[in-house]
Order: sequence, then structure tokens, then C-alpha cells
Amino acid sequence: MFAQRIQKLWDRFPGDAVLITSPKNRYYYSGFTGTDAALLLTKKENLIFTDSRYHIQAKEQAQDFTLVDSAACSPVDFINQNHLEHIGFEESEMSVCEYQRMSGKFQHVVLEGISPAIREQRKMKDAFEIENIRTAAAIADAAFSYIIKEIRPGRTEKELALCLEFFMRRQGAEGLSFETIFASGQRSAMPHGTASEKPLETGDFVTMDFGCTYHGYCSDMTRTVTVGKASPKQKEIYQIVLAAQHAALETVRAGAAAKDIDAAARNIIEEAGYGKNFGHGLGHSLGLDIHERPSLSPKSEDTLSAGMLITDEPGIYLEGFGGVRIEDLLLVTENGCEDFTLSAKELLEL
Ligand code: ZN
Ligand code: ZN
Repeated sequence: MFAQRIQKLWDRFPGDAVLITSPKNRYYYSGFTGTDAALLLTKKENLIFTDSRYHIQAKEQAQDFTLVDSAACSPVDFINQNHLEHIGFEESEMSVCEYQRMSGKFQHVVLEGISPAIREQRKMKDAFEIENIRTAAAIADAAFSYIIKEIRPGRTEKELALCLEFFMRRQGAEGLSFETIFASGQRSAMPHGTASEKPLETGDFVTMDFGCTYHGYCSDMTRTVTVGKASPKQKEIYQIVLAAQHAALETVRAGAAAKDIDAAARNIIEEAGYGKNFGHGLGHSLGLDIHERPSLSPKSEDTLSAGMLITDEPGIYLEGFGGVRIEDLLLVTENGCEDFTLSAKELLEL
């Protein structure tokens, strides 16, 4: 698996060596999860530089790599000693200070940024990635089934968000994909309203947007429910968002333009008169990061391919009233998609 990923990177970068310094890409190319290390991919061998805190872990996790004690030899030393000249590095993952310190030590080296090449490579998920994302999505689904039984007037957003997060950890998640969004009542008009001390009240919309990580891979889902009976206006907005979410889902397949998927949802919301209340793009890809390419928006120039993961998450947000978002996580297939989010989407009045 790692050999294939490294080979695919060489297909995109015809240089002498690649220096990988970011935690997620270190994991992607080697399996190493420690917090301090660098990978150096060369035509002859793959090296992992780390200090004694991580030697045992590196030997266990990065079995395709030769371990180098970073206290004795740094990647820069190795590059200089072996006269490697054309080096790819992660320019998007390095501070100006780190870049200056590194580049000042090189002799006769040409540095080339390869962050776009890595981003492009990570768009397509392999079987290992897809299975872990599917598991992370299943844990989130289970958490939703659990939390809807806990929702009642008087409990605060923060308390319920914690219950949700605790449940996911108990189910095997390592952590959260992002800070849980748990917004009720008028607060649900904030697309990214994180949990507050506000208690739930009868008549509130409650928007929950959450996900967990499993073997490093993220899930992401959103459901909106009401506390008690929904008002006619709440039902109206909910049904528009649901129709938009469904229309986009029906448009997803390999070869489709990302902006057309966005348009399938956006047209329905615009025709219903709420176009200005849907300010964000329809969705995004994810993987080791919660936001990856491609993105689905009116400006996106991406085309979908089988093996990509995307979210479908339209919303309507009315300041002073509340908001609705419904989000599923989809695996793009040749003829359509597989929906990884299995929780019901009809309006739940709890
Ligand atoms: Zn989300
Ligand atoms: Zn999302």
C-alpha cells in the first residue's frame, strides 16, 4: 500500500528526493503516527528520521522505511552528503522560518513545492482509506441514533455534544474530525455554531454536524431535528433542504462536474426563494483532513471520479429564526454513489 502511494508520487514528481514533514502526509506515505519525524523518499531507499522517543514506534509502524536517528543525521545532512539536487518538499506545510532555516543549509539544491501534487494524489482514495472512512461514518450514524434519544428540553448544547463525542470514543473512534457543531433555536442559523451553554427549548431546531476519526480517517454528517412539534415554517424549510440534498445526491456519478452537483441543490433552494440563505458550497471531500479536494461549489472546476469521497450538505439559514442543514457522506461510483450516511433524513420531531 505505502509502496504504491510512493510510486504514484514519483509519477507526479521526477526529482531526486521528496522530503515529507507534515504529520498527515508522513502517515499517508509511511504509516507512522508519531508527532516528530521526517520522511525522505529517494530512488534507492525510503528513510524515516526521528529521535529516540520514537525509534520503537517507527520500526513497528514504518516497516518499509530505514530508520535514521535524527540526533546523528538530519534529512538536510543526508541530502548534502549524498549530493541529491532536486528535492520536492511540502511548501504548504512549512512556516517561512522553517523554510529559511532549511534552505540556508543546502548546497546546490533546487527545492520544488509538491503540495499540489500530494493534494491531487490524495483526492483518490484506496481501499484501505475507503474502509476506514466507512467505519468512521458508521460510528457517527450510531452516535446519531443514540443522541436523538437524549435530546429533550433543558439539556444544554454543550452537555449533549459531549454525550455525542463520548459515545463515538466508546465505539472506537480516536477523536473528532472537527469541533462538534451543536446549535439550537436561533443559533442554528449559524452554519458553524459550536455547542454553547444554551439549554434546548421546545420548538427549537437542533443542527448537529459532527464526525470522528478512525485510523486517522474522518467522517462528517449533519442532521437537523426539532424539539417537539415542528412549525409549518420549519417544515417548509426542512423539506426544501431535503429536496435539494436529494437532487444533488441523484446527480453524483463519475464524470459529473462538481459545479453541476452544487447547482442541482442550489437551483431548488433558489427557486423556493431562499438562494441568499444558502451561502456556502454544497460540499467537500475528506480523508485524513476534514476538508480535501475536490470541493463542490458554483466555482469548482473539478470533475468527479469513482473512488472520491464527497459530502452533500445544502442548508438554509434564517437569522433570528434558525437553520437547517442535512449532510451525507458519499462514495462516488461509476454510475452514481454509495451513501455512507445511513441515518434517516425525514424530519424527526423529538
Ligand atoms: Zn459536516
Ligand atoms: Zn462537511
